[in-house]
Amino acid sequence: MSYQFEAIGTIHSCFKEKFGIPRQPGLVTEAEATLELLPPYNKPEALQGLEEYSHLWISFVFHQSISTPWRPMVRPPRLGGNKKMGVFATRSPIRPNPMGLSVVELTTVDHKACRLLLKGVDLLDGTPVLDIKPYLPYVDAITDAKGGFAPQAPNHKGINIIFEEQAQQALAAIVGDKLPQMTQLIRQLLELDPRPAYMKNDSEPREFGMHLHNFNLRWRVEGQRATLFEIKAV
Ligand code: SAM
Repeated sequence: MSYQFEAIGTIHSCFKEKFGIPRQPGLVTEAEATLELLPPYNKPEALQGLEEYSHLWISFVFHQSISTPWRPMVRPPRLGGNKKMGVFATRSPIRPNPMGLSVVELTTVDHKACRLLLKGVDLLDGTPVLDIKPYLPYVDAITDAKGGFAPQAPNHKGINIIFEEQAQQALAAIVGDKLPQMTQLIRQLLELDPRPAYMKNDSEPREFGMHLHNFNLRWRVEGQRATLFEIKAV
C-alpha cells in the first residue's frame, strides 16, 4: 500500500544545517522556528483554538535524509555510535518512511499570517510539515514510562563553555538587543557537545563550525572545554 501526503507547512528554523541541531526537542529551549502554513492550508480558521495550548506535536519529513537508504539496524549516537539497535527502537532520521515527530513549545499564533512561533525545536530550516496536533498532558505525559537506552536527557553539563572577548563583541554587533537569548542559545548548543560520538574521547584540540540564524560560529574543543572564538554574519 502506498499513500501520498502533501506538506501543509514549512519550518523556518535557526538551524541552517544538520550539524549542531539538538537530537531531540526541548533540549535547547532557545532554539526558535516559525511554522508557516502553505496554500491551500493557510486558512486562519484552521488555527482557531490553537492559542489555548502551550505545546504542539509536529509531524514532519526528514527531507535531507530521504536519499539515504534505510537499514533495519542503526548506530544511535547516544550509544557511542558503535552499538547497533533496531531502527524502530530509535529516533533515527534514516528509516523506511523518513518521518519525524517533535513536541515543541508554542509561543505565538499569528492567525492573520498563518504562522506559529515555536521554541525548543530540533528541526532543520526548510523542513516540510505534514501535520500539527495539540499536546495533551493528560494523555501524552506518561511519567512512569520506560525510556529504553535513553531513559534520561543526555548529561553534558561537565563541559565548560568560554566565549572569547572578540566573539562576544562580534555577537553583540550582529544580534544587538537579542544578545542575552543568543548567548544562552549558543551556550545550550555547545553544552550538548554536538561532536560525532567517535570524537568524544579525543585528546587533540579540534575546531568545529555551524550556521545558526544568520551567522556562522566557530569553536574549539579541548578536553572538557569548548571555546567560542569566531562569529561572522553570513
Ligand atoms: N524529534 C524527532 C523525532 O523523534 O522524530 C527528530 C529526532 S532526530 C534524532 C533529530 C535530528 O534530525 C536532528 O539532530 C537533525 O540532525 C536531524 N534533522 C532535523 N530536521 C531534519 C530534516 N528536515 N531532514 C533531515 N534531518 C533532520
